[in-house]
Amino acid sequence: MTDTTETSGYACSAYGCPAAASRKTGADWVCMYHGLAQSAGAWQKITNRLNLRKAILNAIARTAAIGPYDWAKTRHIGAAEAMRKIGREDLAPRIVTRVHAVYGIQVQRDERDYLALWVERLQNTLIAECVDAVPEPQQDETRTGEAEPRTVGNLFPSTASVAAFVSDDVEVHA
Ligand SMILES: [Zn+2]
Repeated sequence: MTDTTETSGYACSAYGCPAAASRKTGADWVCMYHGLAQSAGAWQKITNRLNLRKAILNAIARTAAIGPYDWAKTRHIGAAEAMRKIGREDLAPRIVTRVHAVYGIQVQRDERDYLALWVERLQNTLIAECVDAVPEPQQDETRTGEAEPRTVGNLFPSTASVAAFVSDDVEVHA
C-alpha cells in the first residue's frame, strides 16, 4: 500500500515532496505544484506546505479508484467524513457556484454528483495554499503584471471537460 498519487509512480524531484511527478520541467519531473513555482527559492516552502496537507493529497490519490457511479451513490459520504476528520470541513463535497466560462452566468453544481469537480477543487485549494500563498524571496523584475490565477482548469483546458464548461471561480456555497 502506497500513497502514490499518479499511476506513473515517479516521485516529484523536489526533495521531500509528498506529491507524485506529473510534468517535466527542464530535466526534472515535478508535481503540478512545484511545476507552478515562480522560482526555485519557493520550492522548499511549497514542499513544507504540501507535507502539512498530505491528507488532501492522499484523498486526491484515492479518487483514482472511484467510479463516477459509486461516487454519486455513496462514496462522497466517506469523502466528506474524511475531510471532517482532518479538520477541513470546508473541503467536503458540496454544492458550488461557478461562473460559466463563456456566458458569465452562474451555474450551481453539486460535487457530490461530479467527482471531477471535487478533485479539481482540492487541487485548486492546494495550489492556492501551497504555491500562491508562498511569498517570493525577492521581486523579480522580469515578472511584471498580474498573472492569470493558476488553477487546474487553466492547466488542462483541453482535457478537463468540466473546466471547459465552467470557469475557475469557485465559490463555496454556504
Ligand atoms: Zn512536488
